[in-house]
Amino acid sequence: MIVDRQGRRFRNLRISLTAACNYACTYCVPDGKRLVAAQDELSAPAMVRGVAYLIEAAGIERLRITGGEPLVSPKLEPFLREVGTLGLADISLTTNGQLLARKLPLLLDSGVRRLNVSLDTLDSAAFRRIARGGDLATVLDGLQQAHAAGMKIKLNMVPLRGVNHDQVLPMLDYCLEHGFELRFIELMRMGHLAREGQTFQQQFYGMSALLETIGECHTFVQAEAPVDATALRYEIPGQGFFGIIANQSVPFCRTCSRLRLSSTGWLHGCLSSSNRHYVGDLLDKPRHQALPALQRLLVQALADKQELAFSGGVTVMKIIGG
Ligand code: SAM
Repeated sequence: MIVDRQGRRFRNLRISLTAACNYACTYCVPDGKRLVAAQDELSAPAMVRGVAYLIEAAGIERLRITGGEPLVSPKLEPFLREVGTLGLADISLTTNGQLLARKLPLLLDSGVRRLNVSLDTLDSAAFRRIARGGDLATVLDGLQQAHAAGMKIKLNMVPLRGVNHDQVLPMLDYCLEHGFELRFIELMRMGHLAREGQTFQQQFYGMSALLETIGECHTFVQAEAPVDATALRYEIPGQGFFGIIANQSVPFCRTCSRLRLSSTGWLHGCLSSSNRHYVGDLLDKPRHQALPALQRLLVQALADKQELAFSGGVTVMKIIGG
C-alpha cells in the first residue's frame, strides 16, 4: 500500500470515460464549443484493466465514473459490464442527466445504484444559458424515473453569484421534496478560472453565503460524514440533508483519498496540480510488468497532493471530470 507522511492513500478512483460532452457549461467550457472524444482515448477493455491494476497497485475500493459526459460514450456498456466483476465496494456515476432515462435500464442492469446528477438551476431559460446543451425537462424526467427505479441520487449544483445564486433555495426545496440530497460545489479555480481571477472572484458564491441564504428559510445542524468525505453535511431535521463541497472555504486536502484516470490514460493525484502521469501504455502489458511500473507512478501521483489547501490549477475539469 502506498501511504504518504500525512497518512493519505488512494482509496477512491474517478475515471473519465470520455472527454466528450453534450453540454458546454459556462464555467467548465469557456469557449462554448461542445467537446468531442479525444482521438487517443483508451478503449473500454483498457480502462477495465486500468481499474483492475489500480485496485491491486493502489488499493482502490470505490469507483466513480465521470467524464466529459459518461452517458454519451459507446464505451459505457462494455465498461460497465466488465468493471462490475472486479469486486469493488461501490460503483457510482456522475452525469448531467440528459440521457439518464434512456440509459437507466443499462445502469440498473449493471448494478449501479448511486448517481450524482449535475443540475445548476430549475429555471429553463437559465439552464440553457449555463449548460448550452440539452434541456431541463428531460433532466427532470430522467431524475424522476431513476428515483422511481430505486436509485440513490445526489444533485450537484455549482452556485454562481449573479448567474444562478437565486436558485439555491428553489433547488434545495426541490431536493427535499423529492428525496434527493443536494450538494453545493464551491466554484473551483480550474482551467480558465485559474487564470481569470476576476471572473472567479465575481462568481464565487461560497459556504458562508450559502449557509446564510439557507438559514433564512431553514433550520439545520451539522451531520456526520466519513473522514475522507469531500462534503460537509447538514441535516434539516425532519426534511432531509444537504452538503457543501467547500474546496475553497474548508479544504479537505489533508484527508483526500482521490485518484483520477483521464480518458486518454493519464493519472492525476491532485486537481490542484498540473502534474500527471501517463499509464496508457502500461495497460497493454501483462500484470507482472505493469504493476511495478504503476506503483512507481502512484508514489509520484500521491506526492502531487497539496498539503493543506486547494490552490487551483490549469487542469480542466471537463477532461478529468471533477
Ligand atoms: N458531465 C458530468 C456532469 O455533468 O456531472 C460529469 C463531468 S462534470 C465536469 C463533473 C462536475 O464538475 C459537475 O458537477 C460540474 O458542475 C463540476 N464542475 C465543472 N467545473 C467546475 C468548477 N470550475 N468548479 C466546480 N465544479 C465544477
